[in-house]
Amino acid sequence: MILPERAAPLAPAPPKTDVLARVREVVARELRPLAARIDAEGLYPSHILSQLGAAGAFAQHHEGFGESGTVDLGLAIQAMSVIAETCLATAFCTWCQDAFGWYLQNSENAGLRARLQADAASGAVLGGTGLSNPMKALSGIEPMKLKGKRVDRGYRVDGVLPWVSNLETGHYFAFCFDAGGSAITAIGRLGFNGIENRNSAEFIALEGTATRAVGFRKAFVPDEMVLSDALPRFARRIKPGFVLLQTGMAVGLIRNCAELMRELPPRTRVVNTYLPIGPETLEESLDALEREIATLAATPFEGDEAYSIRLLQARLQGSTLALDATQALMLHAGASSYLRNSVYSRRLRESYFVAIVTPATKHLRKDMAMIGARRS
Ligand SMILES: Cc1cc2nc3c(=O)[nH]c(=O)nc-3n(C[C@H](O)[C@H](O)[C@H](O)COP(=O)(O)OP(=O)(O)OC[C@H]3O[C@@H](n4cnc5c(N)ncnc54)[C@H](O)[C@@H]3O)c2cc1C
Repeated sequence: MILPERAAPLAPAPPKTDVLARVREVVARELRPLAARIDAEGLYPSHILSQLGAAGAFAQHHEGFGESGTVDLGLAIQAMSVIAETCLATAFCTWCQDAFGWYLQNSENAGLRARLQADAASGAVLGGTGLSNPMKALSGIEPMKLKGKRVDRGYRVDGVLPWVSNLETGHYFAFCFDAGGSAITAIGRLGFNGIENRNSAEFIALEGTATRAVGFRKAFVPDEMVLSDALPRFARRIKPGFVLLQTGMAVGLIRNCAELMRELPPRTRVVNTYLPIGPETLEESLDALEREIATLAATPFEGDEAYSIRLLQARLQGSTLALDATQALMLHAGASSYLRNSVYSRRLRESYFVAIVTPATKHLRKDMAMIGARRS
C-alpha cells in the first residue's frame, strides 16, 4: 500500500501588521537614531526612504497599490505623520515622493503610469516635484520659470528651478513649462537629456532633503514623459491631494511637541502648567484638525469652492498650529531648548518650513481671499 504523503505542516501565518505599525517600526529602528545627523550634517536618508517604501508608506494614495486597493489619502497622511513625529526632513521627502506618485495616479498618460507608478508607490524609484512655481503661477504670484518649444516628438525646455527636493542624479521629478499658449506638466530625470544639477543653497533646517537647483539647458522632453498638456485641468485634479498630503508633516510635528512636553522632568512640568499652551490644548486642537483632514481626504476630487476653502483652511491651521506648538515647546523646555542641537530647537526650525513651503502662508491667504472675493 502506498501511503499518502504527509501534508507539510502549514507555515505560521505572518503577523498581520498594518502599514502604520510597519512605518512606526522603520522609524524607531532606522530613523530615530539618525534624525539629529540628518539635521546637522544634511545626511539624505535614501536607504530609510527605501525601507519606508517597502513598508507601504508611499503606496496608500495609489489605486491598486495600497492596503485597501483604493485611493486612501487619509492613510497616506497618517503614515507621513508617523515619520514627521521624528524628522521633518524625512517627512518632507515622503511628501515629495507622495506628490510625485499622485501626479502619476492622476495623469492622462496611461503609458507613463504603466512605466513608473508601481515603482513610485513602492519607493523602488525615488522622485520629487518641482511644481511650486506653476502653483504660484496659477495663483498669480509669479511667472512660469521654464519655457518650452515644440520640436519633433516632444519639447525643448530652458530655465532654472531654484529648489527641487528628494532629488539625486537619476531620480525622477515633475516640472511644468510654458509652451506658448499651454502649460505642459512632465516628468524628467536629473542628469539626463539636458536636465542638470546646479548648486543649491544651505538651509537652517531640512538640509537632509537632497534639495537642488535644477537647470534645463535645451532639455529634451519626449511626449511619452508628459503627464498632462493642460495645467489648469491637471492642477484642479491634483491640488486637493497636493495640499492635504502636506498636513501629514504638521500633524506629526504637533503630536511630537505634546509628547516632548510630557517627557520633561516632573519638576519642570509643574511650573509649565502656567504656560498658555500645553500638551492637552495641543492635542485637543490636533484632534479637531485631524478629523477635518480625514473628512476632506475622503473626497479629494471635490472641486467646489466650499470644499476649496475648507482645504486651504485645514492646511493653514496645520502650519499655524505647528508654529504655535514648537514655540510653546521651546518655552516648556526652557534653557535646554536653547542648547545647540537640542531636539526642541530642531523642531522649531523645522516648523517654519511647513509654513513657507508652497502653498506658503501668504499664498494660502491670497487663494482664500480670491475665492472670498468671487463668492461675495
Ligand atoms: C528646503 C526647501 C526645499 C524646497 N523644496 C521644493 C521642492 O521640492 N519643490 C518645489 O517646487 N519647491 C520647493 N521649495 C520651494 C518652496 O516650496 C517655496 O516655493 C519657497 O519656499 C518660496 O516660496 P514663497 O512663495 O514664499 O516665495 P518667496 O520666498 O517670496 O520668493 C519669491 C521668488 O523668489 C525665489 N527665490 C527666493 N529666494 C531665492 C534664492 N535664494 N534663490 C533662488 N530663488 C529664490 C522663489 O523661488 C520665488 O520664486 C523648497 C524650499 C525650501 C526652502
